Formats: sequence, C-alpha cells, structure tokens
Amino acid sequence: MKFDIVTIFPRTIDAGLAEGVVSRGIASGVIDLQVHDLREFTVDRHRTVDDVPYGGGPGMVMKPEPLVKAVEKIRATRGAPDAVIVTSPQGRTFTQREAERLAGLGHVALLCGRYEGMDERVLSLVGAEELSIGDYVLSGGELPALIVVDAVSRLVPGVVGVGQSVEEDSFSRGLLDYPHYTRPSEFGGLKVPDVLLSGHHAEVRRWRKKEALARTLARRPELLAEAALDEEERALLDEIRKQGHS
Ligand code: SAH
Repeated sequence: MKFDIVTIFPRTIDAGLAEGVVSRGIASGVIDLQVHDLREFTVDRHRTVDDVPYGGGPGMVMKPEPLVKAVEKIRATRGAPDAVIVTSPQGRTFTQREAERLAGLGHVALLCGRYEGMDERVLSLVGAEELSIGDYVLSGGELPALIVVDAVSRLVPGVVGVGQSVEEDSFSRGLLDYPHYTRPSEFGGLKVPDVLLSGHHAEVRRWRKKEALARTLARRPELLAEAALDEEERALLDEIRKQGHS
C-alpha cells in the first residue's frame, strides 16, 4: 500500500508515524509512505504557499499552483494515485467503511489543508475527493491525514500482527467491540466476569457476542440497523431487549 502526503509541516507527519504498528509497517516495507513538503513546489524566494482571499475577508487561502505541482510530481515519480484525498471539514465523513474502501486501493495521496483551506479549483484540477474526520474544525489537515493513514494501514495485511486480529474491532462488523480484561482477575474490588475465567470457549464467544450487541444497543443503536447480524446474534439481541440489558 502506497501513501503520499503533501503538507507544509512534514515533521508533524513524521512525528505521528514515529512509533507503533504503522511505523513498523513502514519499516518492514508493507507500507510505502512518502511525505512531500509543499514549499518545495513554490517558485518564489519566500516559498509562499498562501495568499489573500479574492472577495476579501479574514484569513489566507492555499495557493493552487504548489498543490497541483505536488500532485503532478507524485504522478510522475510514484505513479498515478487511485485516490487523491483533500482533508476538509466539508468532506464526506471518514468511517471504518471508508477505511476499508481505501485499504482496497493500492495508492492514496492526501493533501493537508491549512489556513482557510485550499483554492477551490485544486479539487477539480487534481480530481480530489474531500474527506472529513468529524464535525469539528482543526487548524490543519495533518492530524486528519495521519488518522486516515492509521485507520487504513492497520487493515493492510501484515501491519497488525496475526493474533491481534482487526476483524473483531469496533465497527468492523458494524458493532462496537466487547469489553476486554487482563490480569489480575480482581483489581480495585472489581472482578473479571466469571465466564472469561471458565475456559469454556463456546460460552466465552457467546458472552462476547452478547456484550458487543448490548453495548451497541445501549450506546449506538443506529449502528444495529446497518449491521449484518447472524442468526445467533439476532436471537441474542432479542434476549437483551427482553432483559432490558444495558
Ligand atoms: N475554512 C474551512 C476550515 C479550514 S481549517 C472550513 O470552514 O471548512 C484548515 C484545514 O484543516 C482544512 O483545510 C483541512 O485540511 C483541515 N481540517 C480541519 N478540520 C478538519 C476535519 N474535521 N476533517 C478533515 N480536515 C480538517
């Protein structure tokens, strides 16, 4: 999986990728990620990437030329990306489904906005899609780009180790995850649920399924409408609803 990130703050991206599973994926070559400093695509002495907005008003706007040049360089040196993403609070919301879609592509480029955002023409000129990480406004697209890279990379085979399966994570099956416990079996006066100590694999599995369903029903009931439940899960959900489990 190839990523290219265009930013005026390359060190912010480097810092975000310095540790953890994604960084190991990069080190092992499963993830091929390059960071491009937008200022290298400027032509003036001051390496200007922003300018005043037409029509007046506060703030600055990212100039189109360096951004378009950066994407051209990526196309020429790294191959044409399957998706060019502009991080923007106005984009479609980034979800686990979006992460799965992007993980199915071979090459994704991400452009990080700053200031008031980019000159609108960039979007059509580079054929970009806009993605938002949520309904709030950040000062730049670097953290959103790191979030997208992280969520997508951990779905790429070989990034998250076997035995740390990503298939049971929240959202992967349209449900929230079940609760996790580790040693000691009693801590702060709280005990780990007996079933988890029982050694009954079938019961553990059923308990986890039920907890995942109960949590999803209590916290995010709208997810259940979209979730692909099997027969056992539908039966468990009926049981939970009857018990008024929360
Ligand atoms: N004036 C813009 C906000 C600019 S914030 C607006 O109201 O839509 C500066 C940059 O931060 C944006 O260009 C974008 O790249 C990034 N950014 C801010 N919030 C974001 C979010 N929720 N999701 C993705 N990117 C975001």
